[in-house]
Amino acid sequence: MTQTSSTPAVTVIPGDGIGPEVVAATMRMVDASGASIIWEEAHAGAQVFMKGIPSGVPEETIESVDRTRIVLKGPLETPVGFGEKSANVTLRKLFETFANIRPVRELPGVPTPYSGRGIDLVVIRENVEDLYAGIEHMQTPDVAQCLKLISRLGCQRISRTALEFARAEGRTSVAAATKSNIMKFTEGMLQREFLSAAEEYPDLETWHVIIDNCAHQLVKAPEQFEVIVTTNMNGDILSDLTSALVGGLGFAPSANIGNGVAIFEAVHGSAPKYAGKDVANPSAVALSAVMMLRHLSQFDAADRMEQAIFKALEDGIHPQDVKIGAPVGTTAFTDAVIERMGQTSSTPSRPHRALQVPVITREGARTAPGSRIKEGADVFIESTDIPGRIAEKLNALAQGTPYRLKMISNRGTVVWPSTGGSTECIDHFRCRFLIDDQSAWNQESLLDLLKRVSEHYRWMHVEKLEIIDGELGFTRAQGEN
Ligand code: NAP
Repeated sequence: MTQTSSTPAVTVIPGDGIGPEVVAATMRMVDASGASIIWEEAHAGAQVFMKGIPSGVPEETIESVDRTRIVLKGPLETPVGFGEKSANVTLRKLFETFANIRPVRELPGVPTPYSGRGIDLVVIRENVEDLYAGIEHMQTPDVAQCLKLISRLGCQRISRTALEFARAEGRTSVAAATKSNIMKFTEGMLQREFLSAAEEYPDLETWHVIIDNCAHQLVKAPEQFEVIVTTNMNGDILSDLTSALVGGLGFAPSANIGNGVAIFEAVHGSAPKYAGKDVANPSAVALSAVMMLRHLSQFDAADRMEQAIFKALEDGIHPQDVKIGAPVGTTAFTDAVIERMGQTSSTPSRPHRALQVPVITREGARTAPGSRIKEGADVFIESTDIPGRIAEKLNALAQGTPYRLKMISNRGTVVWPSTGGSTECIDHFRCRFLIDDQSAWNQESLLDLLKRVSEHYRWMHVEKLEIIDGELGFTRAQGEN
């Protein structure tokens, strides 16, 4: 198609391993689809790390993404010994692409144990919070901690994105999958925000499913799901599972969407063993580009490209990861798709309209300041003492302070006062101090308590215990009454 002044520019990052081959193949398909795109090449990943840029994303790439707002990206590697953060995660977080959309659909000509069941579902995963924020600390030389941070803003916007996405694709049902039965505050926040947002979408069937049962149901009866919204790590795992239902990672596309930038990429990585051999399946990146064309409202080109891919597969032209017949290489598969532009397959493209990505501001999601009653503090200490001896020392040192020791837990289970259980204690204890006279609460009394604790033990962190707007702002330990 001819380019005009309104032709959108797309930053294209070839990436590592099989990336350059599958991205080049995809660009050929996009160009043949009738889409109107100006490609702007930029780099990130292994070569960039090896040049000594610790983020793996150079400034010129950030500038290009800032300008184009749309990225088609190959997989990126973090080479051992260069940088500790993933360039993928850096790109997603730098541009606040808070929703990761991963559709899977039964493909014509790609047989799986599920063929004929009409799988057509989408996992929508929160993309910038949760355990993948990567906030980790060694608590003792032998105990590691990773913080699971979940915000109301994050939960509201991913819930509404999933609900809007369902409408944009004419789907009828959205399930939120969480582990709210165990993590009532973090995972529970997504459940609550989703169910609350869902009240504004009476046209959709909305429900909650516990994440482990969701994995079980996905293997047993995947056709019951249309859209699943979930937290970051749950979604990462579930979406690899769902890609296996329809033929594997070679066919699994994704979009990282935010209020500004959108990044389109395969779910798969750089598959280094196939790099440079012209054997990788380009379908996952190609189907990601189809999502990109829809994002750009180039719906006809998107349908043409998707139908050509479906038709090639239906005609028995298979990349090597479809284990039937004689496979073809990356280039031959791409040629076959391009030859079929304009043809239709037996699997029609879904009707699409532009996705309205919800804009939720920090202020909009913020709970108005209310009451905060201080109940005490959890002090985490390192010790190889037995719990009874720790309690004895802590009780003694708390004398003369407004605090009293309520309990000690080890990895979340009460070990003092004795519960009669047989918890194996490691050298990391949580000591819960409560304050009976709230008026005695002040910073100085807490600092005094910490000073006293530090005379006997190394403490590594403290959590204030609060009742926020009448609700307990902390969980009880296992076995705590
Ligand atoms: P991977 O690259 O996804 O490869 C895992 C396996 O999936 C491959 O061995 C191959 O399976 C199959 N596969 C993946 N893509 C394929 C394709 N296009 N065509 C055919 N088969 C394909 O996962 P990994 O080996 O765990 O990761 C390799 C590197 O990629 C790591 O450095 C990782 O950090 C990075 N990575 C990057 C991203 C990203 O950029 N978004 C995502 C994930 C991983 P068979 O062996 O069965 O043939």
